Amino acid sequence: MAKRKRGPKEKITSLKGMHDILPQDQIYWDKIKESVKKMADNFGYQRIDPPILEKAVLFERTVGDGTDIVEKEMYTFYTKGKERVVLRPEFTASIARSYLEQGLSRWPKPVKLYSIGSVFRHENPQAGRYREHHQIDFEVFGRKDPLLDAQVILLADIILQKLGIKNYHLAVNSIGCPKCRKAYLRTLTNYLKQYRTKLCSDCKRRLVKNPLRVLDCKQEKCQPYIEGAPQIINSLCENCHDHFKAMLEYLDELELQYVIDPSLVRGLDYYNRTVFEFVPDSDSGDKILSASLAGGGRYDGLVRQLGGKKTPAVGFGMGIERLVEELKRKHPLRKKAKKNLIFLIQLGEMGKKKSLRLLKEFQRLGMPITESFGKGSIKSQLKIANKVEAKVALIIGQKEALDNTVIIRDMEVGFQETVAEEKVMEKLKKMLKQK
Ligand SMILES: [Zn+2]
Ligand SMILES: [Zn+2]
Repeated sequence: MAKRKRGPKEKITSLKGMHDILPQDQIYWDKIKESVKKMADNFGYQRIDPPILEKAVLFERTVGDGTDIVEKEMYTFYTKGKERVVLRPEFTASIARSYLEQGLSRWPKPVKLYSIGSVFRHENPQAGRYREHHQIDFEVFGRKDPLLDAQVILLADIILQKLGIKNYHLAVNSIGCPKCRKAYLRTLTNYLKQYRTKLCSDCKRRLVKNPLRVLDCKQEKCQPYIEGAPQIINSLCENCHDHFKAMLEYLDELELQYVIDPSLVRGLDYYNRTVFEFVPDSDSGDKILSASLAGGGRYDGLVRQLGGKKTPAVGFGMGIERLVEELKRKHPLRKKAKKNLIFLIQLGEMGKKKSLRLLKEFQRLGMPITESFGKGSIKSQLKIANKVEAKVALIIGQKEALDNTVIIRDMEVGFQETVAEEKVMEKLKKMLKQK
């Protein structure tokens, strides 16, 4: 390989579509993750973290060949051992693989699992959409009861509510089972064929490979034909119809309002029967902000496709970046100051060394302490102490270092006194207790 000389000034930037989660945003991430962990625990879900790298065939066999994900969005590559691998584009297939491989399928049913982590899609990044993004994922294995569908929908709703997210609605649909879908796909294909020339280029392709996905198209020009399309709920078999009806009754029981959206199909191959999305009531028409807040459905055939026994299952995912966006816009959070923060101020080489020793002592006791070891004047260090909202500042200058004393300053009232070194801890504890 030819070596390329890099000039000293050439900056190395991040890859297209990849993003840094910056310190000032961590507060949103923490809030979301903590809230999710708590709700997962309350609902009896256990955490699982499958690896990020999987065999490519896992997703090709389950998500489906005709889907955008498998067709053009997967990060697929060969390892040095010539194995075809992929950065996971979604969680469900990974968790189902693990469920089967790790013997979780022998646990008492239903088996409730959740995960939080990165997924990768090599799509054209628009603002707010990333090639690596983070998902929260919930899956329940082993029950076909429509009550479970309603229950996972309830969980998604409660998570959104707990985060303070409002102004969204729940859209539901049933896409039937392979049996009744077959007949429907024929009807749909016949209908769409009449408008073939008018559809977008993606839909022309979908019409051949995966006609259901045409209903999912967001292109303006396809909308009139989608609106007029025959609806799958009118061709459900009796079992699928009963399942859907019962699920809606459970939603009524839970007082969860919903709209039936006949164009909601969630284009992955493994879905069957119930599919749902939580859709923001967007006022802006902004594409990112109108992207769904959560989405999922039933996938009764997935475990079997992976070589296991027939195992009904249902689940959903939420994009963390999407939730962060929503919180930032509507519920900005402010970082809370550290409780009882102590700030070390030092001057001169001796003061610095003494401070260092104090710092170690405080850290060992687990007391929050911070400093700005540098060359700044006492005034500039006090400024920083104010900024980080320290309760108390300890000041050690050249004189104090020689006298074995420390100046303790109450940052709230501005009062300060000189104390013998061995009395510092006692005095400090007293002061902080009063705060
Ligand atoms: Zn059916
Ligand atoms: Zn289209």
